[in-house]
Amino acid sequence: MTKNLQNALECIENFGLKCASDEASRFAASIDNSRYNSMPDAVVYARSEDDVSHVLKTASEFGVYVTPRGAGSGCSGAALPLSGGIVLDLSGLNFIEIDPLSRVAHVGAGAVTAQVDARAGEFGLFYAPDPSSHKYSTIGGNIAHNAGGLRAAKYGNTRDNLLALNAVLADGKIIKCALPLRKFSAGLNLRDIFIGSEGTLGVVTQAWLKLLPMPESKKVALAFFDSDLRAFEGIEKILLSPLQPSILEFMDSDTVECVRKRRKCGINIPRGAAALLAEFDGPESSALDSANKFFKVLAPDASLRMAENREEEELLWSLRRSASPAMYELGDSKIGEDIVLPFGKVATYFSFFKKMARDMNLPAPVFGHAADGNYHIHFMYNDSENTRERALQAMKAAVEKAVEMGGAISGEHGIGFLKAQYMNIQHGEPEMDAMRAIKRALDPKGILNPNKLYCSCDNNLKPLRGVKLPWD
Ligand SMILES: Cc1cc2nc3c(=O)[nH]c(=O)nc-3n(C[C@H](O)[C@H](O)[C@H](O)COP(=O)(O)OP(=O)(O)OC[C@H]3O[C@@H](n4cnc5c(N)ncnc54)[C@H](O)[C@@H]3O)c2cc1C
Repeated sequence: MTKNLQNALECIENFGLKCASDEASRFAASIDNSRYNSMPDAVVYARSEDDVSHVLKTASEFGVYVTPRGAGSGCSGAALPLSGGIVLDLSGLNFIEIDPLSRVAHVGAGAVTAQVDARAGEFGLFYAPDPSSHKYSTIGGNIAHNAGGLRAAKYGNTRDNLLALNAVLADGKIIKCALPLRKFSAGLNLRDIFIGSEGTLGVVTQAWLKLLPMPESKKVALAFFDSDLRAFEGIEKILLSPLQPSILEFMDSDTVECVRKRRKCGINIPRGAAALLAEFDGPESSALDSANKFFKVLAPDASLRMAENREEEELLWSLRRSASPAMYELGDSKIGEDIVLPFGKVATYFSFFKKMARDMNLPAPVFGHAADGNYHIHFMYNDSENTRERALQAMKAAVEKAVEMGGAISGEHGIGFLKAQYMNIQHGEPEMDAMRAIKRALDPKGILNPNKLYCSCDNNLKPLRGVKLPWD
């Protein structure tokens, strides 16, 4: 630990904050769901905006790196303190206040996503963004990655549900970004530069979130197609129809086959089938009407099933929930990305993707949020240096192709350090320069979450095996 870091920690402790530098605390703050890790020198636990302001002011004075951290459920290594220094744990900033008149949740950055939704539910309201990690992820982490979820099909990502936020800049100054109002046209909306900024521009301390009236009812329907291509045609038919599913999840035939083999799902799954799982919400009659129309639009190209009660809904959902764990039928390791494709290019992209996978002898299961064009692509392999290298090369080519076809390198998981190598595939130099200029203006000493987003750093890190994380 350097003298500067020691002095900074002493000053932070004197302010009354808990600091930990024991091995176990540092390890817990060194890893995220990417399973890569990098040890910090110390972990500091903030409980208020003032705490965050004091930590950043001190870190700035002593030139110490600070990496903000929510729950560490991110998938791109964004919360890893690659250059050491302090991890600032924000999970203690977890207040939740609901204003039913304005339909707004005022929350601390460390509030857990599912808990915000549950508190809103006490007022007949709901918070729409539902990343599958919602029982663990924090609102600060969701904002930092612009997290999405299944319901983004109808309600959008975090960006679409965020009214305002407070952030602490690198020098400790607190800024208010927009207000919890339905409209705001008072100059630049600074809120937006923090969405997707991954803790590199400032630390979000509080947020005001849009809430919506809870839908009266939901209908869940499942369609099996005899090939991926037929399923893509089905998706196009849905998108061209007036239907507005709240969820539209695609699982390709490789993924569905893995679930079938594991027999963990109680549905009779046809061999070689691809699947589309849809949910329609709204008043009882309209949800049912939409589900019936969904059947009409897809028949006769699909075999269809509608859930008649909660138990059957759970059964249909178990197919989607099994998708990610079942993929390990195809290899003991995976590399995954969450690309976004223009709707008109999906089928063409996947014929390229699957051919490349066959040529490179790598299983490549895919599932995704079809109504957003956001697909989770994977290459599976059995752990060995050679196949891992091959899978990494294949992924780079797959990501490049997505961008070449007008797509994006990430729809919800963000960049972190793992995808920083793709930033210059996505963005030209002028855009990268503009982003770096904003970074320099807000964090001139470069203390916040270094070696992420704006630059790709060479490192020899490898994912850890055998580590159990809370959501495993
Ligand atoms: C099982 C599982 C399923 C998942 N499913 C989805 C999904 O469906 N959709 C989806 O979008 N993602 C999903 N994720 C990814 C992940 O949960 C999200 O990226 C989530 O938004 C991360 O939140 P977190 O609190 O864990 O953030 P962390 O991982 O702790 O941090 C992520 C980034 O945010 C920064 N950060 C954290 N808090 C703050 C703050 N207060 N101010 C500034 N920066 C901050 C960190 O520095 C880091 O750069 C999933 C992850 C898991 C493990």
